[in-house]
Amino acid sequence: MDKIEIAEAVCPSCSPDEPTVHVILKKGGLVKCEECGYVHAIPVKKKKLIKLRVIVSRQDKSSVQSYEVDEDDIIHVGDEFVVESEDEVSGVRVQSIETKTKARPESAPAGEIETLWARTIDDVIVKIAVQEGPVTESVHYKVAGDHEFDIGSTIKLKGYEVAIVSIKTRDGGHAKRQGQFVKAKDVTRIYSKIVSRERQAGRGGGFKLRSRKAYRGTGDEKV
Ligand SMILES: [Zn+2]
Repeated sequence: MDKIEIAEAVCPSCSPDEPTVHVILKKGGLVKCEECGYVHAIPVKKKKLIKLRVIVSRQDKSSVQSYEVDEDDIIHVGDEFVVESEDEVSGVRVQSIETKTKARPESAPAGEIETLWARTIDDVIVKIAVQEGPVTESVHYKVAGDHEFDIGSTIKLKGYEVAIVSIKTRDGGHAKRQGQFVKAKDVTRIYSKIVSRERQAGRGGGFKLRSRKAYRGTGDEKV
């Protein structure tokens, strides 16, 4: 018996927006929708995966690693991706692109790249619940993983300053004692209160605010 090959594709008959499971009838694109039985052709784009050489620097050490991509993918300086080596997984950011013709463009199709120069990202995103009266906002705060947050200390966010009330930690703890500190990478969530607000509250700022969601609460809800 032939092996049945499956593809995900939108079905013009029953699901034009969401992909459904299709059985591949013919190499080159004839497929049958598993939901409704409709047979149609899909354009098959052959992916050609290549392994890019990535020189990853972490502080002052560097190592050669590889990153698998489609040769048509465009890589940009500033792109972030994950590389795995032995048992370590690191997030890295592209610092520089070197092409086979020894050019150093800001972006290039993967197939033309000789070497990627990248640096590890040690930043983590910490969630901060900011309480002001009955309103609690959730702020994402990007900071180095080793950064220490002390209970009682303040954090400057764009437009306002908050005081850390307590910190929930990844091991299930909830630090509340004045002076206790937790490293950013161990934080699940920081609970804080606004201590001062600038006249013009802005967005973004010294630290990246990735997203902000505000809702009107009663003041005693759990965040
Ligand atoms: Zn269908």
